[in-house]
Amino acid sequence: MSTKSSNVITAEDPRYVLDASAVVAGYDNKIILQQLDLRIRSGETYALLGANGAGKTTTLSLFLGFLAPRSGNVRVHGIDPIAQPAEARRNLAYIPENVALYEHLSARENVAYLLDLAGQKENREGIDHALTAAGLDAAAFDRRVGGFSKGMRQKVAIALALARKVPALLLDEPTSGLDPQATTEFNRLLGLLREQGVAILMVTHDLLSAADVADRIGFLDAGRLVEEVAATGEDRFDVRALHRRYAGQAERTA
Ligand code: ATP
Repeated sequence: MSTKSSNVITAEDPRYVLDASAVVAGYDNKIILQQLDLRIRSGETYALLGANGAGKTTTLSLFLGFLAPRSGNVRVHGIDPIAQPAEARRNLAYIPENVALYEHLSARENVAYLLDLAGQKENREGIDHALTAAGLDAAAFDRRVGGFSKGMRQKVAIALALARKVPALLLDEPTSGLDPQATTEFNRLLGLLREQGVAILMVTHDLLSAADVADRIGFLDAGRLVEEVAATGEDRFDVRALHRRYAGQAERTA
């Protein structure tokens, strides 16, 4: 029996909010992930890098409960996303590469409606607070999101994650197609969620952005996590060394 202290936030394993242990997974008769061990703590940002087809999106699918592991265990806040999909999803927010919103609704209405779908009631003040924290200009709150840029859409999605107070956030290629200013702003928002204790798993090809925000960077190569590096000291990561690793890996995969 496990002992639990008051600051423990996970249901099963107090150390990890996102936890994949010895996972083997794939599609039909093709194995994609081979003995994947990936664990992310509360307040930790993890960037998963790898060449095209390495299995990054497949990893997100595991936590989302879209794909069942053939062996091994996957837990979201201590919950098995295959056995209890609704429960697991209540504990995470997912921001895909292209954020899907209700185009004819305003930013405010989108957050209110999506919170409602998640079974959460929030008053206007709470929604405005989340949109403001996510850096959306107040003038845009009542505008239909149909005309929003990718960066603005992400802000609405971040506002939703902030309002839902989820313990885990999954991001697929969040900075692809963002200009440098929007990338910097996005990274600042991730910092905000991190400070709230959210465990963040970000799948990306953007090494600079990863080095900027991540506490750990993992390199996935043909379904295997071949290396993990942690940010250390003020310089965080040695970007040139990371680039050599990443480029070398992509070359081997090609
Ligand atoms: P990228 O950087 O290109 O997005 P990735 O690292 O996210 O790549 P995945 O999308 O996880 O890679 O794909 C890993 C492998 O699994 C690829 O060979 C892909 O063709 C295959 N795959 C992905 N989804 C399916 C599916 N639904 N059915 C069958 N094979 C799939």
